[in-house]
Amino acid sequence: MTAILPGATIGVLGSGQLGRMFAIAARELGYRIHIYSPEDDSPAGQIGDKEFSFLYEDLDRIREFARGVRVVTFEFENVPAASTAAAAEFAPVRPAGQVLHTTQNRLREKTFLSKNGFPVTPFRAVNSVGDLEKAAKELGLPAVLKTAAFGYDGKGQVKLRNAAQLPEAFAALRGAEGIYEAFVDFEKEVSVVAARTLRGDLSAFPVFENTHANHILDVTFAPAAISPKLAKEAVELAAGILEKLDVVGLLTVEMFVTRDGRLLVNELAPRTHNSGHLTIDAAGTSQFEQQVRAVCGLPLGSTELRQPAAMANLLGHLWQDGEPNWAATLTDPSVKLHLYGKREARVGRKMGHLTATAATTEEAVRRVVAARDRLGEPGE
Ligand code: AMP
Repeated sequence: MTAILPGATIGVLGSGQLGRMFAIAARELGYRIHIYSPEDDSPAGQIGDKEFSFLYEDLDRIREFARGVRVVTFEFENVPAASTAAAAEFAPVRPAGQVLHTTQNRLREKTFLSKNGFPVTPFRAVNSVGDLEKAAKELGLPAVLKTAAFGYDGKGQVKLRNAAQLPEAFAALRGAEGIYEAFVDFEKEVSVVAARTLRGDLSAFPVFENTHANHILDVTFAPAAISPKLAKEAVELAAGILEKLDVVGLLTVEMFVTRDGRLLVNELAPRTHNSGHLTIDAAGTSQFEQQVRAVCGLPLGSTELRQPAAMANLLGHLWQDGEPNWAATLTDPSVKLHLYGKREARVGRKMGHLTATAATTEEAVRRVVAARDRLGEPGE
């Protein structure tokens, strides 16, 4: 395989913060970047050499975009299969459209995982109230009902506590296919971001531990507070999934750690992940640089953490009383600020993040949360 060397142009489908941080990493390595999404002046478009602002369904534009690049990757996985197929006529798409297809739909994803022996919570497809009632009988309650497609950050999902809730929950699917998942009484949530090259070389970052607020990732720290044995299992589980899916590029595996110490895979994302942002400031190679290396056929970089680290998301509500107090947040010299260049701050929108490094994860978490709290302090 010949590597796609610096100086070449990489195409990215999607233009949010993941694409932005990818574009920054790619530029550091000397690549050119073209961004494709329906937006303009997007977080990634602001960094790229060229921004294509067209619908993903516009296959002629997708072909034009792919003609101008050596490889296509993505930061947004809900791109239609026809679009990645059209791009693949002109440039390799990494990870391939097949990986996207499996991970775009929770039912396909969990079916793939369970068929291949990867641990998941018991689940059933829901296409009728009858299916839902049967699933509740077979798998029991509580449970979580999710739309099979297009869900993220807890959107399109509801916790079911009793049978009386079933008809209303089914109606809320509005005709979309659903997935019924047995509720996991988890102790914590962790994720593994791993990369794989065309040659099959694999490399994973240390396990990240994640806490959520209102279903949105709030704080991540690394390394996760789990035993070395469980951490090894989590990395091996992720590696097995990348191999089975034949991923070239990055894949993130979100997992639950159950109270009895087992790992269950919750979700796959064929890309970089919010929980991996701390790698920019704390790891030998950032997850974004690793994505560049993996999709361009370069050797993978070190995933080792230089120091324990923690990341706190900055969501839109922090702007409700005007611009946050950036000077106050940065009074701790161990804290790094990353903003995504989004013009409009909406509640729940990911606007940026903070990272802190310290001698221990506890200290890193304390510092990053304190730094975020200082954003609300009155300015000068
Ligand atoms: P997801 O959109 O699948 O990533 O789910 C969002 C969040 O909802 C997860 O991070 C969990 O906190 C929670 N969740 C999802 N599925 C389950 C489940 N089967 N049991 C318990 N909690 C869940």
